[in-house]
Amino acid sequence: MNSGRPTVAEIDLKALGSNYRQLLKKIPRGTNILGVVKADAYGHGAVPISLELERLGVHSLGVAISNEAIELRRGGVRAPILIFGGVFTSDEVDRVLAYDLTPVVFEKATLQRLSKAAERSRKKVRVHIKVDTGLGRLGVPDALWRDFVKDLKRFAWVEIEGFLSHFSMTDEDGGAFSRDQWARFQKAVSVADEMGVRFKYLHISNSGNLTAFPAFSGNLVRPGIMLYGSYPSPRFRERIKLQPVMTLKTRIHFLKEVPPGTRVSYGGTFVTKKTSLIATLPIGYADGYDCHLANQGEVLVRGRRAPVVGKVCMDLIMVDVTRVPGVSQGDEVVLMGKQGNERITVEEIAEKVKTIPYEILCSVGKRVPRIYRPGAVQKRMRGGGVA
Ligand SMILES: *Cc1c(COP(=O)(O)O)cnc(C)c1O
Repeated sequence: MNSGRPTVAEIDLKALGSNYRQLLKKIPRGTNILGVVKADAYGHGAVPISLELERLGVHSLGVAISNEAIELRRGGVRAPILIFGGVFTSDEVDRVLAYDLTPVVFEKATLQRLSKAAERSRKKVRVHIKVDTGLGRLGVPDALWRDFVKDLKRFAWVEIEGFLSHFSMTDEDGGAFSRDQWARFQKAVSVADEMGVRFKYLHISNSGNLTAFPAFSGNLVRPGIMLYGSYPSPRFRERIKLQPVMTLKTRIHFLKEVPPGTRVSYGGTFVTKKTSLIATLPIGYADGYDCHLANQGEVLVRGRRAPVVGKVCMDLIMVDVTRVPGVSQGDEVVLMGKQGNERITVEEIAEKVKTIPYEILCSVGKRVPRIYRPGAVQKRMRGGGVA
């Protein structure tokens, strides 16, 4: 349904394809890509992005929680889906089996629960085991690894398919910590091997590490942010050529000329110094346009930068378009992305807001429709009977 409001996030699937191929070029032969599509594919729309990644030949997909995985299955995704965050409850275990999902496991109690449920339904459950090599978040602690492995074979209905860990940094420290994590990872693999437990898949790298240290990869890598054309930090700009996938745009909803001394938006934090043209745009913090962009952000109108003036409201922002020749009500405005020869990157916005590009992308609100270009996936989704 067309919402009427012209505020949309355009998703460029060609750019996604290009980023996917750039990542493939970075990794050793025989290593496959697990595309990370958690948090609604970093705000890009999990089902259409996953269907497109499948079309591109992705090996498997990764999400944070089981509901995200179920959404993908209901949307017609057939690739293996790894649930990074594991499972929380018993009825969730039944859904894992029903939807053929692969949870990450780091506790024996979970293996026990999964094994029992699998036995009840007479269907093996596949899992990947996670070890903590230095991030200090989820994973079997190093010191308990031997003991954990010893028990793995007890669970007849559990198929131990993969082994993973997660890097804490890339090369901020010259790579010493990542190298140490890689060594711990390999040690854990060889301990398991000695004890007769072998894994089909070994994986540890996210976008940053697969680019900085392609050799520390196992046979599966887990890029997220780079698939969407963004850099985990500016250092990576020279290392890989990515294309931003999302363009956030709207149109001028209301345009007015105001005299000097006019206050704009809540609290009157901006006051015009001269006669000014102020445009009101139909996007606000409820759409993910961050409040910190007040009197700081910029947008593109007719290929030129125009500053955000005054506070960001829930549904609206104001921009000063005095210096945009020919500006008219209804003009297209790009808040993130390219227009003419100008571009506002997600990195630029993240820096102004003092956060990381990930958060900017994930925050684009759910009332902003995602429009896919070219439209093939959208048609396929309709044809595929997605509710
Ligand atoms: C989010 C996540 C990734 C992807 O990280 P990027 O930095 O976006 O490439 C990979 N693995 C795990 C376990 C994650 O949670």
